[in-house]
Amino acid sequence: MPASTPIGIDLGTTFSVVAYLDSTGRPCTITNSEGDLITPSVVLLDGTSSVVGKEAVKAAGMEPDRIADFAKRDMGSMFYSKKVGGEQLPPEVIQSLILEKLKRDAELKLGPIDKAVVTVPAFFNEPRRKATQDAAQLAGLQILDIINEPTAAAIAFGYQVGFLDAKGEARQKETILVYDLGGGTFDVTLMEIEGSDFTAIATGGDVYLGGIDWDRRLADHIADKFRDKHHGFDPRQDAAGIQRLLKEAEDAKRSLSARDSVTITFEHVGQGIRLPITRAEFEEMTADLLERTRFTIRSLLKEARLQWSDLTRLLLVGGSSRMPMVQKMLEEESGLKVDRSLSPDEAVAHGAALYAGLLMARDVPTAAGKPAAKPAMRVRNVSSHDLGVLSKDPATGRSVNSVIIPRNTVLPVTKGKRYRTAKVGQKSIVINVIEGGDGAGRNSTPIGRCTIRELPSDFPAGSIVEVYFTYGENGRLKVEGRLPELRRKATLSIERASGLNDDKLNEWGDRLKAGRGR
Ligand code: ADP
Ligand code: MG
Repeated sequence: MPASTPIGIDLGTTFSVVAYLDSTGRPCTITNSEGDLITPSVVLLDGTSSVVGKEAVKAAGMEPDRIADFAKRDMGSMFYSKKVGGEQLPPEVIQSLILEKLKRDAELKLGPIDKAVVTVPAFFNEPRRKATQDAAQLAGLQILDIINEPTAAAIAFGYQVGFLDAKGEARQKETILVYDLGGGTFDVTLMEIEGSDFTAIATGGDVYLGGIDWDRRLADHIADKFRDKHHGFDPRQDAAGIQRLLKEAEDAKRSLSARDSVTITFEHVGQGIRLPITRAEFEEMTADLLERTRFTIRSLLKEARLQWSDLTRLLLVGGSSRMPMVQKMLEEESGLKVDRSLSPDEAVAHGAALYAGLLMARDVPTAAGKPAAKPAMRVRNVSSHDLGVLSKDPATGRSVNSVIIPRNTVLPVTKGKRYRTAKVGQKSIVINVIEGGDGAGRNSTPIGRCTIRELPSDFPAGSIVEVYFTYGENGRLKVEGRLPELRRKATLSIERASGLNDDKLNEWGDRLKAGRGR
């Protein structure tokens, strides 16, 4: 049987994109069943059936209670931030419905698909990456790997612009800033590409800043003018009014990327308004939002001890980077020319497809039966948060956060620490894995617990317990416990503090399958 074509998926906060490599190895975006290149990451839940994308967006004004959007923000939490159709859903389930639609649409073009590379933001922590993998599993996709969005974008630009050769190696050392302003988040990443090594050297951003904030400004402006005209009658009083205001605002915003002015018309409960607006006015009312991105970049450069003059390229990613104010600000700030040779909303998916192709080439033997030449590309990320173990100091009873893998360690990495048991005859040892937090573990995120069981009944106090963390290139964690005195060594499963455990995952898997069968 011929191997199915792998796909690259950019599972975005507001829009998702799927790409594959054509027979010449060029990345192409797959149009969805509505004929669009990008699919809104919006789900309308109707009992057990669901509608994803444009049609769900259209229904948003009428049935806001059945709509799930921005679910990506909640990945890593137990539940999606609001009830949908009266039910609390895990965010993985909403994401899986989106992935399933993307897969189904891609299959119309490519035939059965099972393998994919899915991208995640560079700042995604371990639980969010796990949740993303689980969502893919629920959608019936086998994840070849997850890679960071800016890395994917750099790969795509690299191929297109030619700073990478056919094997994926940089012709000269590149230091790149990837500016990704999407629908709901802003991410900025500094990357070094040397030969075949892609290393993210620093990453930062703003999880609550994106195109939607520009929309809101404009929506408020329309609503204010409407209220002035109609004696204090405010269209923001009901959810449907807000939805339609945002829709008008977004349309106008997009037009203002191409034109100097537009006239917005808005009607609400039989009343209307016509409102001309210029690009300059729009830029003025959102200037502080843009400034926030400038500020974030400056702090990141400082953190990485880099100057603008150290950078070789500036890549723009994310639909919102189409706003002329973004490019203007960046060129003025950096003195560099912005590279716009790739569509900013497709770059990430294209990079994911290229990466999927490289991974497959590694595994699939060529027609001659010999393994294909191993592509050299190595993607290296740094850990975005400290990972450690929360324990109690037996002497003082205080909590202690012992960091095993510090933030910004180049991945993959295996590191361990040595602990000692507190009591004689302890039956089990519990390892509390946390991310971030201060020395006492305050403000940390619990990742989960691992337990070493069945210790001998006379296991002495002060016995050595070694805990090893292996943090993969894709930011997923494995924990190993070693008891050198007993010559015991075991890979531990993490009982997760958040997200779905295996039982729940299976349960949802069955439920979603039943829903699809209808
Ligand atoms: P995601 O955050 O899901 O990765 P995208 O990168 O696709 O999303 O960006 C989506 C955002 O880009 C939306 O806020 C959308 O309004 C905005 N956008 C798309 N095209 C334009 C345009 N031509 N001008 C201004 N904003 C745009
Ligand atoms: Mg994006």
